Amino acid sequence: MEVNIKTLTPLWTGGVEAGKCDRIHETGILGSLRWWMEVLVRGVGGNACDPTEQKCLYDPKKPNNGLCDVCKVFGATGWKRRFRLSVNVDDEQSKTVWQPSVPLRITPFDRTRGWFLNPGWLGTLQIKIQGDPETLVELYILLRFIETWGNIGARPQLGYGAFRIIDIKDPPPAACYAIYGDRSPSDQPDLRTFTFFKLRFTTKTATWWQTVPGIRELRGKLDKKREWSELEQLAKHGMVPTTPALKIIFAIIINGHPRTYPIGFSVQFGRETIASAVKLPSVGHIAWILQMSGRFEVGCICLKITMDAPSSERF
Ligand SMILES: [Zn+2]
Repeated sequence: MEVNIKTLTPLWTGGVEAGKCDRIHETGILGSLRWWMEVLVRGVGGNACDPTEQKCLYDPKKPNNGLCDVCKVFGATGWKRRFRLSVNVDDEQSKTVWQPSVPLRITPFDRTRGWFLNPGWLGTLQIKIQGDPETLVELYILLRFIETWGNIGARPQLGYGAFRIIDIKDPPPAACYAIYGDRSPSDQPDLRTFTFFKLRFTTKTATWWQTVPGIRELRGKLDKKREWSELEQLAKHGMVPTTPALKIIFAIIINGHPRTYPIGFSVQFGRETIASAVKLPSVGHIAWILQMSGRFEVGCICLKITMDAPSSERF
């Protein structure tokens, strides 16, 4: 299987010399593939060891030969990796390599230290993967997943290694993914165009929810006594219907006033001006704030983000 990809952000796979990207190192690609496979395997309830702690040890006497679902593919002590991976770069294309003479230093307005963005590799590359069909299918799906949600190489925390697959030559002949085809996203709800986030936080007081915009207005009002006791009941069970307030906050963020309205619930909910904001697209699922094992959690699914047209009419 040969996967042709185009980098969307610089690719960093480590180098011999610190801070320099001399060539693409296969180990850097492999490391990120393994990390994402662990995420996927754990995400469906499977077993993936923590390679930073202790990887699996091959032992034919143990169930599954003592290997987790990831080591089975990526190898462990006594068990060879199930595939070979090599990288070829297109020399013509790689002339666009981003090799600035000094690392970019980016320090946002209210920060003192900032971030250094070192050079990375840009262009198109071919990742050749050889292995048995079952392994190739797993890697095919893995790469398709990472293309949408992840990064290859190192420094994903700095946004490095975003990519798109141009084409895949000699894909594994397997029905399990082929039945879904290769359609590109349309206007219909499509997982590939969704954005998710989940935020967990703890609070200092049990009554924090009483300052949530929309909720706090009900407090102490004689004609809203019943609503208020409903809210108290919900809060007692760890549920706060914050969706309306959050829709407003997210709309403000999307419309570009993040400094006035940072995502900080304690600060956020203490503000007066929030109510004057615009509405968020109805094409988003915003959860209530709920309590889970002592902490609060709030999540959001944006079915589609149209950052290029943040006008209130559109939302
Ligand atoms: Zn393992």
